Amino acid sequence: MPTIYSNIRVEGSPALVGMRSIGASMQYDGDANHRRHMKKNAGRTKKQATAYRVGFKKMRTQTRKHHQHQINGKIFHENNQGWKTVHVWGEPFERGFAHGALLYKDLARIKKSLPFMVKTLINIKFSEYMAATKQIIVPIVKTYPEYYQEIRGISAGASQKRLDISTDFLIGWNAFLSLYSHFIEGKSHTQKIERCSAFIATGNATKNGDIVMAHTTHSDLITGQLLNIVLKVTPTNGHEFVMQTSAGLIASTSDWYISKSGIVCCETTIADISYSPKFGVPFFLRIREAIQYASTLDDCIYIMTNKNAGDYSCSWLFGDTKTGEIMLLELGLATKNIRRTTNGVFYGMNSAIGQELRTLETTDTDFHNIESLSGNRNYRLNYLLNTQYYGRIDSTIAKKIMGDHYDMVLGKQSMNRRVICKHPELDIASLYKPYSCTDGKVLTTSMAKNLKFLGIFGSGCGKREFKKREYIREHPEYKEWGSHLEDMPMQKWVVL
Ligand SMILES: [Zn+2]
Repeated sequence: MPTIYSNIRVEGSPALVGMRSIGASMQYDGDANHRRHMKKNAGRTKKQATAYRVGFKKMRTQTRKHHQHQINGKIFHENNQGWKTVHVWGEPFERGFAHGALLYKDLARIKKSLPFMVKTLINIKFSEYMAATKQIIVPIVKTYPEYYQEIRGISAGASQKRLDISTDFLIGWNAFLSLYSHFIEGKSHTQKIERCSAFIATGNATKNGDIVMAHTTHSDLITGQLLNIVLKVTPTNGHEFVMQTSAGLIASTSDWYISKSGIVCCETTIADISYSPKFGVPFFLRIREAIQYASTLDDCIYIMTNKNAGDYSCSWLFGDTKTGEIMLLELGLATKNIRRTTNGVFYGMNSAIGQELRTLETTDTDFHNIESLSGNRNYRLNYLLNTQYYGRIDSTIAKKIMGDHYDMVLGKQSMNRRVICKHPELDIASLYKPYSCTDGKVLTTSMAKNLKFLGIFGSGCGKREFKKREYIREHPEYKEWGSHLEDMPMQKWVVL
């Protein structure tokens, strides 16, 4: 095992022990002072007690000021065409603390919406969800002290801004897609998951021979609207990286990553999984470790497959901008499909490209069916990438492909559930449910080397404006969603 991975699993390293004690003293200072105050106050007259209380408050404010934690981070843009760009740095607890303190308002929204998402999307009680978090996920996260401390830091940073969001709750939030797999997959045949179109191209497939990568998130609108954070992380150990994410997360989950190592990565979900995950290391820890510590595509394979839990099964698309090589890494539980090239294209559309994986670990029959959500995009992406634009792919063409609405069945452009930039929210066949394409991202090798990319927030095509009140008025069956949704105005592509 390469030594680079071992450094983050060392329990109780001096740095971590130090951080733990900082976190602990912050939590206990207030309580201890209060207890001392109550004890001293016993037996005083009312006037004396009031005077003492005023003095105590003054002292506590001064103590708080003294203990004001340094924020190892800053917000670059509050709202850049819908994106919030943030930078955090330093040791795990410190950068987590900055994350929590800078994004506490966004975390408040997650605190409100996660129980609704669990009830509506997983169809279980939140208490059951948190019990599974504590029983299955928390013990595993604790074996990754670097990431456990980062999450503890997020909770402490939010707490400084008077938002109470516990470490366990945040671990539950990080594990949402893993627990979705745990509760849903392999148990019954469920509706096809509406997630993501993406591709990565290189060599003779692209205009200048460098890597071009593109991804558009397909999601329920609550999750999609929360994915407006562009977080740059400069860790003390490992590589600096940028990811699209939500407040409170240590991994992207959309997923969209650029690492200073030269590794870039995105994915599309593999739908209709027929097994239950076996934990194992959940995907959010594996992909975060890969982005922070991998230097080569071989490293990525090692980290992603080692103790793979089979949760949130994906067609992962990786590229190494140092070598120009790209890779499709499809991971089920027992089966994987790895393809690598320096000339060509890989894409994803929620149906596994690897036939063995599709046959053995899914119930998916949509791959060749153009009437299906995946089949239509399979044929369209294959045509656009391997025929129409092969050899000419650049960021302009990538943006065009991510906003494509061509329906192979109808033989024309249509903003419906089947197209690359999909719109179930506008499609009667999807019962107008609040799912949609919620963003688009594109990068090239030269952008990635500067940790930059192009992004559009709202819909990959930039042609759909979402107005919450109008939507709920027209589709009152989704009224409950109203208090968790926001308007999504039409935005423009921006450099992020
Ligand atoms: Zn669209």
